[in-house]
Amino acid sequence: MAFTVKNQLILNVLKEEQVPQNKITVVGVGAVGMACAITILTKDLADKLALVGVIEDKLKGEMMDLQHGSLFLKMPKIVSGKDYSVTANLKLVIVTAGAPQQEGESHLNLVQRNVNIFKFIVPNIVKYSPNCKLLIVSNPVYILTYVAWKLSDFPKNRVIGSGCNLDSAHFHYLMGERLGAHSLSCYGWVLGEHGDSSVPVWSGVNVAGMSLKNLHPSLGTDADSENWKDDHKQVTESAYEVIKLKSYTSWAIGLSVADLAESIMKTLRRVHPISTMIKGVYGISEDVFLSVPCLLGQNGISDLVKVNLNLEEESHLKKSTDTLWGIQKELQF
Ligand code: NAD
Repeated sequence: MAFTVKNQLILNVLKEEQVPQNKITVVGVGAVGMACAITILTKDLADKLALVGVIEDKLKGEMMDLQHGSLFLKMPKIVSGKDYSVTANLKLVIVTAGAPQQEGESHLNLVQRNVNIFKFIVPNIVKYSPNCKLLIVSNPVYILTYVAWKLSDFPKNRVIGSGCNLDSAHFHYLMGERLGAHSLSCYGWVLGEHGDSSVPVWSGVNVAGMSLKNLHPSLGTDADSENWKDDHKQVTESAYEVIKLKSYTSWAIGLSVADLAESIMKTLRRVHPISTMIKGVYGISEDVFLSVPCLLGQNGISDLVKVNLNLEEESHLKKSTDTLWGIQKELQF
């Protein structure tokens, strides 16, 4: 045996194959993918992180930049590659890959281009990790979660859309700012479609179980002198403002995705407003993914919480269903 520093210093007593037990892959290493990656690393959620992308230099650069910070992380291995073999044996994949919208491009055209990207990504993930959970972040998140479900042929519990987790977190934050309390103590659910068409459930808004709607019956209506409805408006509009100011959004979505990853990797069974296939619930008869409160754990989504929606909220969900299904039925797989 050669006299290397390593074999003078270290006596090997067991030949072990290092198979990761808690591996996460992030597909797409843009602003959102890297915000997800760094949050997952700092929260110690995995024993191996694999980054997958298409631009070789960017991919290698991001991997090396993270590896150089290894001393400050409790993550033994960070790898990357264009080849999906680097993703083998993963527990959770977070898909943030997407094509940017081109000037004048129709929504349907952008969706179809992202479907074409997913047609490459999803079968490759499934090939190397047939038992993983798919967490979709790329927009339009509802349609692409449906696309991932179709392409993967996975049971619906293992295909999850980041959905309204961020919208609801943003709502908690605004509520906290109004009340001078931390977001964690302010409860308010934003459900349905992520973004412009989301539905705030005013009847459930509370602090310490005290319903704000009971204290202030006009809450969330046009007649409300305190204009709480504006908080929901801000939830739907301020992503556009952030994009105008810094060209993209990244930190809040990264934090919210890592929060979902934590529930899955640690089997927490916390309830999150995330998109799931809701055919058969709230009178919906199409294969659409919308956000409702879901229990999230090791198998993905195991249960839904049945929220009492009023007629207006239910008709809002129905309208979203019609819009989504109108697009989905035109897609070419
Ligand atoms: P970005 O353009 O910075 O990154 C997208 C990345 O995807 C690029 O690095 C690109 O090279 C990569 N990519 C393209 N095709 C690929 C493929 N076949 N395989 C692997 N990677 C591929 O965009 P971003 O700002 O990081 O946003 C990513 C996605 O997240 C967008 O669709 C955006 O709309 C979405 N997003 C969602 C939410 C949400 O709440 N769900 C919030 C913010 C952004």
